[in-house]
Amino acid sequence: MKSRAIPSPKLLIKDHKKADKQGNYPTRLVVPANNFTSAFPRMGYLGIKKILDDNKVNYTSRTIIQASDLKEKIETMGITNNNSTIVSIDAEAYYPSIKFKLVRKAVRYFSRHLTDDNKEIIEDCLEMIKFGMSSTLLTFIDKYYEYDGELLDPEEKGLTIGGYESAWLADLVGAYVLANTRKHFEHTSYDGLYRDDGFAIFEGKWNYNQIVQWRNEFQQSVNQLAEGDYLQFTCSLGLDETVNTIEPYEVEDKMVSIERSKTFPYLDMELYWSESQQLQFRVHLKPNQQLKYLNKGSTHTNACFKAIPSGVFNRLAKLTTVTEENKNKRLDELYPKHTTILTNAGLVTNKQIPTLTEEITKSNNRKKPTTTRLAKQKERDRKRTMHFCVGYSKAWKTPIHKVISKQKAKFNLPWIRVSMSYHRFNNLREIFQGDLTHKLNLDVESLDFQTRECNCRPGKGEKKCGYNNICRNSIIIYKVECNNTKKVYIGNTQQHFKTRMQQHFRDVRVLAKTGTKSDSYARHFAEQLQNFEDISNQLQRNTITCSVIWKGNPLSAVKTFGTPHCTLCARERIEILKLSRYKPHLLINSCNEIYGACRHKPKFHRYATAQGTDESPREMKGSNKQEKSPQRLSASV
Ligand SMILES: [Zn+2]
Ligand SMILES: [Zn+2]
Repeated sequence: MKSRAIPSPKLLIKDHKKADKQGNYPTRLVVPANNFTSAFPRMGYLGIKKILDDNKVNYTSRTIIQASDLKEKIETMGITNNNSTIVSIDAEAYYPSIKFKLVRKAVRYFSRHLTDDNKEIIEDCLEMIKFGMSSTLLTFIDKYYEYDGELLDPEEKGLTIGGYESAWLADLVGAYVLANTRKHFEHTSYDGLYRDDGFAIFEGKWNYNQIVQWRNEFQQSVNQLAEGDYLQFTCSLGLDETVNTIEPYEVEDKMVSIERSKTFPYLDMELYWSESQQLQFRVHLKPNQQLKYLNKGSTHTNACFKAIPSGVFNRLAKLTTVTEENKNKRLDELYPKHTTILTNAGLVTNKQIPTLTEEITKSNNRKKPTTTRLAKQKERDRKRTMHFCVGYSKAWKTPIHKVISKQKAKFNLPWIRVSMSYHRFNNLREIFQGDLTHKLNLDVESLDFQTRECNCRPGKGEKKCGYNNICRNSIIIYKVECNNTKKVYIGNTQQHFKTRMQQHFRDVRVLAKTGTKSDSYARHFAEQLQNFEDISNQLQRNTITCSVIWKGNPLSAVKTFGTPHCTLCARERIEILKLSRYKPHLLINSCNEIYGACRHKPKFHRYATAQGTDESPREMKGSNKQEKSPQRLSASV
């Protein structure tokens, strides 16, 4: 659960489709499901998937994983224009139409042969999915909405587009529908489903009226299965231009359309008949589709620039049926649009474009299966590898991996196995956005992490504050110096400094009394104070001098808590490393304190605008009321 943010809905504009009479393109509302409850359905679906996979339940026999798999399967089946009819079977508004009750039926169907224990776990997983589906929240123009909120019954809610679990669950439901409607596919030589795009090849020549009747019967079976008519399928029948006579419609059905052109589009391929009436494939470009590839001038690694053309060529070759006629043609002859854009972007030169046969040989060679021995070795290497994730810049004179290996040699660190992984730097939009957020937050502070004045009750013979007046600072890196040895302990805390120190004091006492091991702080001070009968807080306070080395901004620091890039943890490591480098003999911390997971807990803030001071006159000047009491901006989030 990384984020508590509530996402806003997005509208996709499908500009690759035909515009309507007013010139508007079809749209689709996307409900992003990455809100803070999305962890539940994600866990739920992963649990179900693991159980099904562990028990080798085959739920993908009708699922088309990739366009190229479909092509490979069908190409060898001897399908010709004379002996078959191509039909695509599409689900309308697929994800939103898949209601929870249908998901449950599908999951129960595929787990019907499993043990009772497994079934019980699966039921729990289903509950988690149900919880997620029934509490998808959205924000739009300052208001919160519940997805499918008008449906009070969570059983009736649909899958969200973009949810982690949606794609897999939708495929599972598709497999369930196809597995339970087999009687309708007795006369097909192939049928499969990719998400909401179904595809079937019927044996023999079918006409429009027959397909209409077939669809009606199929739909009836689906309705029975789904216990309702919310999941609707449409058909599109491929009749190529050579068929001159279309039999008269008995009834025109809006659910069945006819695709009358030389080619039949499916996924990102188009299917067409060769002169000898064989079924063949090539890559399909949707009308209005704009191809865009990275420009050579942009800031990316060379590996990245190389991967793009090789990926594009590989895909073009994989999705193209090889014939006598095209096998020696270069890919720029077969797909001028793709290759022109690649050359314009500077990613390939004209000479580098392979022929179809060359590219296929290349990709076949690439596919060498790794042996188990190799895989094991790789796995072992992976465990020892150290990943360096740095921002990539073209401005470097020496590539960063060379800098690292130089340092590795210089400091004699042969055990480091370097692996590079690059991230990009912020772009201009993000820099502006960051600047804006910074300015908006200038006067805002967190009530819960504010630095407060000392409220200590001094002990006997003590000055007012035993903590050098930093007792109620929070989100800090602090330094505790031992008055006897002048050695230094560096620590961090998100709580009030005083609270953290009291934990330290307790640890010292426990170690001195019972010998229970704890951290380096307790070890050092228990040894220092071993001759005292009563190691009281006051005694310990008098043995140390504390100060703040670094103070974090609560608003930005809290956001990183619990993540691998927690600023408080990172800052502490830097300070410990600094000291261990320059004055190692003075360091109390042990080395194992510079790694380990972050244990800071993110919290919601109660925001307040800062008290008006001379440095920030601004709008505050006019109203004295606001200056006196911090104005609450928001009580919760
Ligand atoms: Zn104090
Ligand atoms: Zn942390």
